[in-house]
Amino acid sequence: MSSEHAENAGTEHPEPEAAAAETAGSAVGSADAGAADLPGDEASDRAADEAPARTDDESAEVWDVVVVGAGPAGASAAYAAAVGGRRVLLLEKSELPRYKTCGGGIIGPSRDSLPPGFELPLQDRIHAVTFSLDGRFARTRRSRRMLFGLINRPEFDAQLVEHAQKAGAELRTGVTVTRVEQHGPAVPDRRTVAVVLADGETVLARAVVGADGSASRIGAHVG
Ligand SMILES: Cc1cc2nc3c(=O)[nH]c(=O)nc-3n(C[C@H](O)[C@H](O)[C@H](O)COP(=O)(O)OP(=O)(O)OC[C@H]3O[C@@H](n4cnc5c(N)ncnc54)[C@H](O)[C@@H]3O)c2cc1C
Repeated sequence: MSSEHAENAGTEHPEPEAAAAETAGSAVGSADAGAADLPGDEASDRAADEAPARTDDESAEVWDVVVVGAGPAGASAAYAAAVGGRRVLLLEKSELPRYKTCGGGIIGPSRDSLPPGFELPLQDRIHAVTFSLDGRFARTRRSRRMLFGLINRPEFDAQLVEHAQKAGAELRTGVTVTRVEQHGPAVPDRRTVAVVLADGETVLARAVVGADGSASRIGAHVG
């Protein structure tokens, strides 16, 4: 699908017809699964996987919710948990705003999933789409109503994170999560999960939300 006829846009929300918001992928609670090293996709991460977790002391802080990944899913999950009165730590391996490969099209369910009061930073409004097969048989459909809007992902994602922070979530950037442990010396009790960072630091949580994208380590842990 290609788009044409983009108008300048303000902050008005689109009136789209089509599909697909992505939500936080996987959640880990304190359960019976054994400690698990998550498969990594980068050599440096693999080395960090093998580093022992630093043992925490008795008074180590335990977060209600640790969210891994500050994309739209993670920021939205962090916002929802913070609004619900939970103490939330949002962990992101990049510095924000970070680049994300994306067309930036935002459609109905995605728009509808945004937190209340969130001003959608629309760059353009799309009123026509062209469908083709192998570049041929092109058919264009036009609409007076906006079919979908276009956003700049770094800007949009950072704005969502700010919204979560305003709701009370704490953000740490530049930290890569390498694995989650549900047993072992880093885990003080069965209600707690240890989230291990690349430098060996351990963060404790009652619940972990895996929103770390398509190569999710948390998703691999959950299986
Ligand atoms: C080419 C392309 C075009 C697309 N176009 C569109 C489009 O037009 N419209 C649309 O709705 N969707 C589009 N998508 C899909 C969209 O980009 C994804 O659905 C969306 O980014 C998913 O959001 P997310 O929050 O789940 O994950 P992500 O946006 O991928 O965020 C995951 C975050 O987790 C962080 N992270 C990853 N691993 C770790 C770790 N171990 N520790 C700490 N942090 C970590 C990453 O740095 C990242 O910030 C497109 C995708 C691609 C590839």
